[in-house]
Amino acid sequence: MTNKEAFKEAKSYIPGGVNSPVRAFGSVGGEPFMVSYGKGAYLVDVEGNRYLDFIQSWGPLIFGHCDKDIENAVIETAKRGLSFGAPCELETKLAKLICDEFENVEKIRFVSSGTEATMSAIRVARGYSKKDGLIKFEGCYHGHSDALLVKAGSGATTYGNASSSGVPEDVVKNTYLAKYNDLASVEAIFKSGAQIGAVIIEPIAGNMGLVPACNEFLKGLRALCDEYKAVLIFDEVMSGFRASKHGSFEFNKIKADMVTFGKVIGGGMSAAAFGGKAEIMDCLSPDGAVYQAGTLSGNPVAMAAGIASISKIYKDEKLYDRLGLLAKMLVEGFKEAADKNGIDLQICTRGSMFGFFFTKDEVKNYDDALKSDTKMYAKFHRAMLNRGVYLAPSQFETGFICSVMSEDEIKFAVDMANEAFKEIKNG
Ligand code: PLP
Repeated sequence: MTNKEAFKEAKSYIPGGVNSPVRAFGSVGGEPFMVSYGKGAYLVDVEGNRYLDFIQSWGPLIFGHCDKDIENAVIETAKRGLSFGAPCELETKLAKLICDEFENVEKIRFVSSGTEATMSAIRVARGYSKKDGLIKFEGCYHGHSDALLVKAGSGATTYGNASSSGVPEDVVKNTYLAKYNDLASVEAIFKSGAQIGAVIIEPIAGNMGLVPACNEFLKGLRALCDEYKAVLIFDEVMSGFRASKHGSFEFNKIKADMVTFGKVIGGGMSAAAFGGKAEIMDCLSPDGAVYQAGTLSGNPVAMAAGIASISKIYKDEKLYDRLGLLAKMLVEGFKEAADKNGIDLQICTRGSMFGFFFTKDEVKNYDDALKSDTKMYAKFHRAMLNRGVYLAPSQFETGFICSVMSEDEIKFAVDMANEAFKEIKNG
């Protein structure tokens, strides 16, 4: 089957042909290719075309596709049973690997997706603080649970329905929206008398494109949460073990009360987690009154993939430096190519995460991000794809470097960007 035929068939059975909207290429036009397999830094489609993959499953695959250590861990563990629904030591092992490195994560609970992690973290935070109000930030995406789908980034922004239909107003009445990197907007909510029990933020936002929070802003946020006794939740589903070994902490030195993880901690399998101070986490059932559960939570195969992934990260002290240099080399190359062709481009990296916006002004929040020229992004995306480079099919996403990418591959992508911008300019 060709890509076109395979996607047409998918569309007859699956809404939009995809199981997560952004995969459908809606904002960049054209149709997605159908993946046959992944290998190292590359994806190969059903027609045999190869793409240098800067998405890496939207972050989890920090060691690329089919990493041997993760693959072996998965295969060996699968032979002992795919799921137990009972405690197993692999869960404790992964929990230890994370808790021992994060001072503010004394206890952790595993779930199967980032959506569950943030949803559950908020429930615990509310149970602990005994206050229902929740502050979230415009352009931040925390998965697709009802209360969080208000001015959300990622696919929600891509498809222009940042606040989803089907979410009852009653459910979001306790969700207060603040502006990213704007402390006054947060302070105003606290001062309004709203009973805020939790504040959730991507300390390195990756779902409106890549927009890190400024240090002063996070410091102020920490102080406000302390003053008003609200639980500060850092959603590091994307940035955890991606921006650095300690996620955002290495950039801003701010500790949240709770942290959510996903993506890299599952090494490509379905694992995510939420954790925090023991005093907060002990509110969870069976010890406490906050209910939360999952049939496949702490799944042994997913735990094994996570253990292999995190252990490999801990063994390689230079990993994030190397990935960070490659990320910089890539976007600086893009910037130089854009400059040569008179195209405005803003670039940003945080460790192995990279982002770029087609706008002349610095991007510090969601409104700034929305000013990016999305038509230009679409043209660039298509021109790069035609040259074998797979970038996120939306302006409002982040790109990822994996450890098996070489400088030559980055140079190749930059060469292709030079060709792409020239082609776009010549119209
Ligand atoms: N939080 C953040 C910061 C994310 O980037 C994502 C997904 O991209 C999620 C939560 C939701 O995770 P999942 O897609 O595993 O439900």
